[in-house]
Amino acid sequence: MSYEDLKEKLKGFNKNQFNQFASDRISLHRDLGKDTRDSECLEQKFRRCPGLSTTSVIIVFHNEAWSTLLRTVYSVLHTAPADLLTEILLVDDASTDDHLKTRLDEYVQQLKIVRVLRQRKRKGLITARLMGAQAARGEVLTFLDSHCECFPGWLEPLLARIMEEPTAVVSPKITTIDQDNLKFQKPNPHWHHYSRGNFNWRLTFGWEAIPKNERERRKNETYPIRTPTFAGGLFSVSKSYFEYIGTYDDQMEFWGGENLEMSFRVWQCGGQMEIIPCSVVGHIFRRRSPHTYPNASTTINHNLVRLAEVWMDDYKWIFYRTNRQAASIFKTNSFGDVSERRKLRERLQCKNFTWYLNNIYPEAHVPDIKPIAHGQLENNGSKCHLHVKLTKKHWEPVRILKCNNRGEAQYFEYTSQQEIRLSTRMELCLHASPETVLLSLQLCRPKEKAAPEQEWIFTQKKHLKNPSTGKCLTAAEGFVKLSACKSTGLHQSWVFS
Ligand code: UDP
Ligand code: MN
Repeated sequence: MSYEDLKEKLKGFNKNQFNQFASDRISLHRDLGKDTRDSECLEQKFRRCPGLSTTSVIIVFHNEAWSTLLRTVYSVLHTAPADLLTEILLVDDASTDDHLKTRLDEYVQQLKIVRVLRQRKRKGLITARLMGAQAARGEVLTFLDSHCECFPGWLEPLLARIMEEPTAVVSPKITTIDQDNLKFQKPNPHWHHYSRGNFNWRLTFGWEAIPKNERERRKNETYPIRTPTFAGGLFSVSKSYFEYIGTYDDQMEFWGGENLEMSFRVWQCGGQMEIIPCSVVGHIFRRRSPHTYPNASTTINHNLVRLAEVWMDDYKWIFYRTNRQAASIFKTNSFGDVSERRKLRERLQCKNFTWYLNNIYPEAHVPDIKPIAHGQLENNGSKCHLHVKLTKKHWEPVRILKCNNRGEAQYFEYTSQQEIRLSTRMELCLHASPETVLLSLQLCRPKEKAAPEQEWIFTQKKHLKNPSTGKCLTAAEGFVKLSACKSTGLHQSWVFS
């Protein structure tokens, strides 16, 4: 690489958080090659007349690179049967890059069925998607990010499922386009280990393996996978069902939370969230976001508080305990008016969050709504509080537990099962091993009774005693360890403060 190339590559990576230099040198029409999906996907047949519903593809973007945006557009044009594709709507969320202005308008004119809509003020992807949905003329809305590539045969399975079940909100199997070299990860017929969407109690979205009962329910590859939540960027939904179910919460701003809000809402109000593995779409996943958001964390928490207030009933307290900023947004009543959304829930006679957890996500670990005690775990003798330094390897138990007066406050919960769990990471429990005490997730049991090593009796002397070893939690010289219970002194006396 010449110095000039290297400079251009770095600049492109900085701006987009993916290798724009490579993208700019790959055809806008790149062919992904042979259809490598499972044979059961390839054998699927779709009716032509009267055929599947038509769809509008809605792509929202903010300062997207030219090559990734146009490659997304062309990949839709090349893979979607013309009968099924009404239009492609590009919704600009107030981009400032020059190439996305007149140049884009003029370029897409020749593509006939591609239109650009513009959101004047930057308000984020939620209102941009709503703008696209409103303008759409197809019977089904299909949302994509502005850096995707559709794999052959992706559209028909999505539309077919919506024909069969109009209340289904369906996502493709999202595969990776490598941010470093733009390599498209093609489907592999041996891929049987799919993932589905979940969430944790900080209300962040994640992926997890599909549980056994769901794997067994699927008779073959063409069956949808039921998913508790969806990633939210790439999906299809019937336009009339999208409207019936309450589109989006339009007071959510910029980015974040709308996918969980829609997941809870759809399930609780009688619909279903599904992943259709015969439909494969690539997406450039990035390690970090290239966008700047005004007050990023406050905005996301503002959105999350809105969804917790409308859909989560008393389970919202678990969220507020793990996220102090969200708790303060709630306390100061600064999350805006949610009365319209609550009315929607009422009008659609939606089920409650307990129903959702029991029926849609029974595998979830559900902490106590109100634990017996929670706060910093403070030692009455040394006035220090328990602090655990977590490492990235969260599956390894932490062996050194400190007791200090400095540092960030760490919150623990004393649960109804007499465990001591780290609040922010609820799968971590204090674990007594014969000689010492660990913070461990290995035996932190999700549902049944606590493991004996993780049971702590809060005695009248304020000791925390583990019955299986008969020993007590003790503060000594800046550390916390396990030792024989003593009747005198305060080094074994604790309080949640
Ligand atoms: N986007 C937008 N406005 C914003 C932020 C993002 O229109 O303020 C668009 C962005 O161009 C992309 C989609 O919304 O098409 C999702 O954003 P992003 O890809 O950054 O999120 P991720 O896929 O990393 O979750
Ligand atoms: Mn994206």
